[in-house]
Amino acid sequence: MNICILGAGYVGLVSGVCFADFGHSVTCIDLDKSKIEDLNKGIIPIFEPGLKELLDKNIKDNRLSFSTNLDNVIDKVDAIFIAVGTPSRRGDGHADIEYVINAAKEIAHKARKYILVVIKSTVPVGTNRLIQKIIFEENSELEFDMASNPEFLREGAAINDFMNPDRVVVGVESKKAEEILTEIYKPLLINEFPILVTDFESAEIIKYASNAFLATKITFINEIAALSEAAGANITDISNGMGLDARIGDKFLNAGPGYGGSCFPKDTLALAKIGSDLGSPMKIVETVIKVNSEIKLRMMSKLKILCDSSFKNKKISILGVTFKPETDDMRDAPALTIIPALLSQGAEVNIYCPQGQKEGAALLGDVKWFNDPYSAVKDTHLMVILTEWNEFYSLDLKKLASSMQTPKFADLRNIYNKQFALQCGFEKYDGVGQ
Ligand code: NAD
Repeated sequence: MNICILGAGYVGLVSGVCFADFGHSVTCIDLDKSKIEDLNKGIIPIFEPGLKELLDKNIKDNRLSFSTNLDNVIDKVDAIFIAVGTPSRRGDGHADIEYVINAAKEIAHKARKYILVVIKSTVPVGTNRLIQKIIFEENSELEFDMASNPEFLREGAAINDFMNPDRVVVGVESKKAEEILTEIYKPLLINEFPILVTDFESAEIIKYASNAFLATKITFINEIAALSEAAGANITDISNGMGLDARIGDKFLNAGPGYGGSCFPKDTLALAKIGSDLGSPMKIVETVIKVNSEIKLRMMSKLKILCDSSFKNKKISILGVTFKPETDDMRDAPALTIIPALLSQGAEVNIYCPQGQKEGAALLGDVKWFNDPYSAVKDTHLMVILTEWNEFYSLDLKKLASSMQTPKFADLRNIYNKQFALQCGFEKYDGVGQ
């Protein structure tokens, strides 16, 4: 199949590379000229494990190319995927589908033969029908079908998620659209990964409902963590005890500083807005949004207690600023709330993050960046683990504690236990829900 992807970001690039690896001929288009120039030189604009190798292989095999120009490819394309951003609209939290609309108009103006238009971006219910109408209005001669194909990959594990999905969701209205998408995803069908075919609206809601459910699970365990602290219990044991119940499952039950990232914050806000617009309020999701923002304040008060009630002139070292490990993505990371709050209250902040500096430097203001955790932590009054990068599981705590002005440790991902940290020389340790 000949495939085109509009938007070579986290989702578009991974999808394009993986479709090429399925054997299709893929062109990824992006408006960002420098991104496309880099990609044509084999330079990847994001950090995603395994992506570079797969990209190189498929470029070499002539199945993958990059361009800023849709005109050169659209005539030979069977399906075009829209994978552009759908950020929160300023002020009301609604998903901004302006980029999707612009992409659709461009397709309408340039396509001259039948094409399947697939929306991979996360879009509010009703968007596929709206885009169908817009394309028809812009070019009533064009023969085309629409399909909704929301993406569920996780940054940091994106290739594996795309190649081994729990499910592929396809929202269609025509047999032809279903057949083309089935052909595109054939390697997954052969390997018996489930492909769920549904209508547009259900496919659109499945994506938001899934993300909101996961955000709820995280927020629920974070609230239980607060209860656990108040009651003198241990959240790690509680999570284990809950997670062993097969009906609950052990995923997304790790207490921490609240969810962040490129999807959960904006998608929960958008779902709440969609519910209120349709007269069906999403009361649980609305509460989750509120509780999640309060969790960050709770983290701040933990840090403040460890700093003897004042951040003024305190040196604080932060380990990990990306919203999760194995990505360079800083969008809505808890670090973006916590670090500016520390700075505004007079703290000096040192940071070490395996991949966060490129994005974070512009976002985090007056902080000092280091190339390893030991230099970042040296001479500070408090060490904070904010993101659970693998390398933080085997830190030399003795070395770190002995290098600090006051050896205090806020372990906001519960990587270590209190007793061990104290044995290693920390005079104070606090985790989440411990
Ligand atoms: P992103 O911001 O990383 O990438 C979007 C890209 O689209 C940018 O490079 C931008 O330049 C490009 N673009 C915008 N308009 C364009 C146009 N008209 N033509 C060509 N390129 C255009 O976004 P992302 O994180 O990949 O997310 C894309 C969508 O996928 C969003 O709706 C998001 O909610 C959804 N999603 C994201 C993830 C994730 O983990 N990032 C996971 C699942 C779903």
